Amino acid sequence: MAAPVTPKRIHCPWLLTPSGWRADQVLGLDDKGMIVDVLGDDEQADVRLPGPVIPGMVNVHSHAHQRLMAGLSGRRSKGAGSFWSWREQMYAAVALLSPQDLALLASWLYLELLEGGYTCQGEFHYPHRLAGADALASSTALVNAAEQVGCALTLLPVWYRYGGFGKAAVAERQAPFILEAADYLGLVHQLDSLAVGRPQLRVGVAPHSLRAVAVEELADLLPELPGRPIHIHIAEQPAEVQSCLEHHGCRPVTWLSRHIDLDSRWCLIHATHVDAAELKHIAASGSIVGLCPTTEADLGDGLFPAADLLDQGGCMAIGSDSNLHTSAAGELRLLEWGQRLIRHQRNVLVSPAGRHIGSSLWQHAAGHGARALDQPAGRLEPGRRADLVVLAADHPLLRGLPSDAMLDTWIMAEQPGMVDQVWVAGQCHVEAGRHRLRDALEAGFVELRERLVDQVGQA
Ligand SMILES: [Zn+2]
Repeated sequence: MAAPVTPKRIHCPWLLTPSGWRADQVLGLDDKGMIVDVLGDDEQADVRLPGPVIPGMVNVHSHAHQRLMAGLSGRRSKGAGSFWSWREQMYAAVALLSPQDLALLASWLYLELLEGGYTCQGEFHYPHRLAGADALASSTALVNAAEQVGCALTLLPVWYRYGGFGKAAVAERQAPFILEAADYLGLVHQLDSLAVGRPQLRVGVAPHSLRAVAVEELADLLPELPGRPIHIHIAEQPAEVQSCLEHHGCRPVTWLSRHIDLDSRWCLIHATHVDAAELKHIAASGSIVGLCPTTEADLGDGLFPAADLLDQGGCMAIGSDSNLHTSAAGELRLLEWGQRLIRHQRNVLVSPAGRHIGSSLWQHAAGHGARALDQPAGRLEPGRRADLVVLAADHPLLRGLPSDAMLDTWIMAEQPGMVDQVWVAGQCHVEAGRHRLRDALEAGFVELRERLVDQVGQA
């Protein structure tokens, strides 16, 4: 199927800009799909979009392989189940996959994420060696998948060495994740080569967690890989915090901060269990907190004090993480609802400058997400990529609403069909809510899942 063409001038009846909604705006694009100007004149537009236009959402935390087991961990076996028992099932799923399977899974997932409003994925990739192949094979599978369906990608190859705090030995099922420092540096440099000539691909750094890397070894490694985003799972589970306290006498964010200066390159994934001092430190550091509310709810992690972070001027972004859900609207809805349940208030995360929950949350998460992934995205202004989500203005629940209320409605009262089009770098990949390759890729995904589903479910 031919790749979509890139128009030079795109008319938007309503455009969500960094300074708010603007009517009748024209995005001027260069031949790489970057925005070069935003003008109020619509006379020479090549394309006229049919509904309000918002920036594509940036997904700062995805594990593509976990899409395989979406919905398959709802069976209770021994006891109530926990993050840790879920993790055993997930490890069993990894053991079934080849790099080719991962490519298929990721293509399908990224297609679904595009339909859900995510135009850029941050893939936190640790199942490096699948079916005996080398680490480059699985990373390349992810890069090819993103290219096939047309999303931007920041690949975050994971450094993973230990099975727990105190340099505990890894379990057998964690063996495909392990890379020694020299091998890890080699992989990152191979991926840098892969990114040459691929403007939508970035390569970051991702120490898995303070369980899986020793912080002093991390402090030695990071200067070898300067100028990149750094992502880490930081404090997802109470048992993780407890183990850090037992081994190091302090909590994970504190332990990290004692060895490494947090700054704006850092994205702290699941900073769920922080104390007041840690939260204050994160907010002051310029680091971004990466939250994945549907996965955090599914795994029984807990609720992060997001409103407290914003009150202190901190920054957040969102991720689809286990990819149980693929809608950016759904992720933001649960983020807001969690804070309402904590505070017994409504519209908690509305920005001081805004009045609407939808545009406040969307702009904040997309803008900081783009910074977390080192991508020129997340804001519709010159110098950024034309990554666009067009709302379906003719949907029965949206028809006739002002743009702000349309975005509120999509996020808080989401129904199928509320997203009309999704564009990346000035190319339209989703029309009438369906990705252009959905029909071509569906059978392959279904065959893969049917082949593996029984084995995953039995783990
Ligand atoms: Zn994760």
